Amino acid sequence: MNIHTHHVGEGINILDVGEGKAWVEKEKRRELVEGQNVFYSVGVHPMKLNELGESVFVGIEDTVRIKKVIAIGECGLDRRSPICMKTQEEILEVQVRLAEELCKPLIIHCVKAYSELIAVRKRTKSSVPWIVHGYNNNERILRQLLDCEFYISVGAALSDSRSNAFQLLRMIPAERLFLENDDKEVEISVIYETASAILGVDVETMKEITGNNYNKVFRK
Ligand SMILES: [Zn+2]
Repeated sequence: MNIHTHHVGEGINILDVGEGKAWVEKEKRRELVEGQNVFYSVGVHPMKLNELGESVFVGIEDTVRIKKVIAIGECGLDRRSPICMKTQEEILEVQVRLAEELCKPLIIHCVKAYSELIAVRKRTKSSVPWIVHGYNNNERILRQLLDCEFYISVGAALSDSRSNAFQLLRMIPAERLFLENDDKEVEISVIYETASAILGVDVETMKEITGNNYNKVFRK
């Protein structure tokens, strides 16, 4: 199970297709022939706000309703964006409301704005699952996220033994953990092997852990 990817591989994939409706429609037809393992996430990435402008919501309002779109995202907050944090928060909140309305989990992108992210979650009283993708930050923030019931997805950073992701993997409770390869070259199977080795479990157990979480979060 690959919770966040930009290229489809083995197992169940949640393919990030940004905000593009045309893309989803095209792929939907293809994947009906090829199998049922590809699902989609649709959302507005905070680093793309500048070029997309307000009109982007007209696009995703429809797209998020497609059945195969099972998550909203990646959306979130990014300190590097030229868009001010307040506007980013407002745009995130629009997507949180969509997620609530449609009962679809959120896949979250967050760079250097975790306290704001947690504040948005509390303020919106959101009840759908929030999955922070590509987590590679420190222990203090990880604990805060876990306290606020976030799910944590880790990926390619696991291959570096000095990374936060590697060092903190054991601290993430099994029932909150996902794995992903995002837009990286590395195969998802390699990420499963690495995570299994770090946790001292076999790959099948690792697949069971994320598979159970997938079934729970996406009510499969
Ligand atoms: Zn991504």
